[in-house]
Amino acid sequence: MLVLGAGPGGYSAAFRAADLGLSVVLVERYDTLGGVCLNVGCIPSKALLHNAAVIDEARELAAHGISFGEPKIDLDKLRGYKDSVVAKLTGGLAGMAKARKVTVVHGVGEFADPNHLTVKSADGKTQTLRFKQAIIAAGSQSVKLPFLPQDDRIVDSTGALLLREVPKKMLIIGGGIIGLEMGTVYSTLGARLDVVEMLDGLMQGADRDLVKVWQKKNAYRFDNIMLKTKTVGAEAKKDGIYVTFEGEGAPKEPQRYDLVLQAVGRSPNGKKIGADRAGIAVTDRGFIEVDRQMRTNVPHIYAIGDIVGQPMLAHKAVHEGHVAAEAAAGQKSFFDARVIPSVAYTDPEVAWVGLTEDEAKKQGIKVEKGVFPWAASGRAIANGRDEGFTKLIFDAETHRILGGSIVGTHAGDLISELALAVEMGADVVDIAKTIHPHPTLGESVGMAAEVAEGVCTDLP
Ligand code: FAD
Repeated sequence: MLVLGAGPGGYSAAFRAADLGLSVVLVERYDTLGGVCLNVGCIPSKALLHNAAVIDEARELAAHGISFGEPKIDLDKLRGYKDSVVAKLTGGLAGMAKARKVTVVHGVGEFADPNHLTVKSADGKTQTLRFKQAIIAAGSQSVKLPFLPQDDRIVDSTGALLLREVPKKMLIIGGGIIGLEMGTVYSTLGARLDVVEMLDGLMQGADRDLVKVWQKKNAYRFDNIMLKTKTVGAEAKKDGIYVTFEGEGAPKEPQRYDLVLQAVGRSPNGKKIGADRAGIAVTDRGFIEVDRQMRTNVPHIYAIGDIVGQPMLAHKAVHEGHVAAEAAAGQKSFFDARVIPSVAYTDPEVAWVGLTEDEAKKQGIKVEKGVFPWAASGRAIANGRDEGFTKLIFDAETHRILGGSIVGTHAGDLISELALAVEMGADVVDIAKTIHPHPTLGESVGMAAEVAEGVCTDLP
């Protein structure tokens, strides 16, 4: 088994295939395993977000009579902390590969034909690997706006994670999760933010009532939120990057920024791996189409993760990696997830899974909801963070849970109960009758179900 790419999809597939007795070679162009997620994505961003959240929380304690001085921020040390978190995890993966006797080959891989991959290593040497089966897990890269000039002050998420310095004024192009997470970090460290989004709201995908809660709490970070607005040009000058906008929220004059973050999405790497030489069909946009066993049109070659489509999330890639490895080992595994949770690790966090209320409305699906405001949660009030709420969406006739959303601190940790509820085909009453520990934020899920069942009625 050859696995191309050692991100969450690739290493999960490689390890599972090895555990199932296949002889595995894992090809990765970079020195460390872990892909985008561990090296320049999920993990470093959360290491920084954690520190930002502690600073924000410490500042809020002033209202409870506990005051600290302004934090002294040593960027070198903060960067060092982030890098140490990444190193711990990527080093762990190297150990796990070794323990399973997975051979790791470093270099850029390209298919030569349906059974061979050539790998060019950093020193220019080339080797050809022969395989019986392959799993493509070559991931994605950030989309670059072609009209932006080459300049150190214009970065993508990888550049933003380097945290070279804290700008006075920062522009985030793209109001999605990645941009808003990085914006949170920079703002807490001292930057003023502008954000520009082509669509009519930030954090697309989440219900608008959740985003409203996040936006109210975060309004102080932003000078300007430009919606239905496009970035159309930028000029790099000595004193900053001057950006021009068009659309409903566009300022007339170009605006000056010390740092510009492009966070306008990610594009799959399907066209960069010589897929055509192996006969693998790739769409115009660079995605590889697969069946429910993650098999491409070439039956002994599978594909998983960002390269096969949305949502581009690590937990989806891992799950698909397991399916592909199991199918390749002859098991009857299928990708059969009903739902894949999404989380914005902002402050508060915004998390949703399955059918959202806005989607149900758009699709004309008859649903009802149970909403529990955290203003009635003892734990949220005790934490001084009662701005959130928990919402269950269920079938109006059968009361089967179809989805749910949570906005509030730790929403990302809380959403798993709702993912499980949908996967298990739970009804609202199943959650309402489940005893949740008191006082916890998780209790809000049980309470939302009780609201839906008419048990809990006198809410603020
Ligand atoms: P990748 O992680 O992209 O890995 C692909 C690997 O293949 C890379 O290591 C690459 O070097 C290698 N490769 C590619 N081409 C070749 C080649 N020709 N030869 C050899 N090697 C090759 N997702 C979440 O679920 N939660 C989060 O909180 C989250 N936060 C994110 C934050 C940021 C800033 C970013 C950018 C992404 C975030 N994501 C998050 C998305 C997540 O990182 C991806 O969905 C995930 O990494 C996809 O895994 P993958 O295995 O498909 O591909």
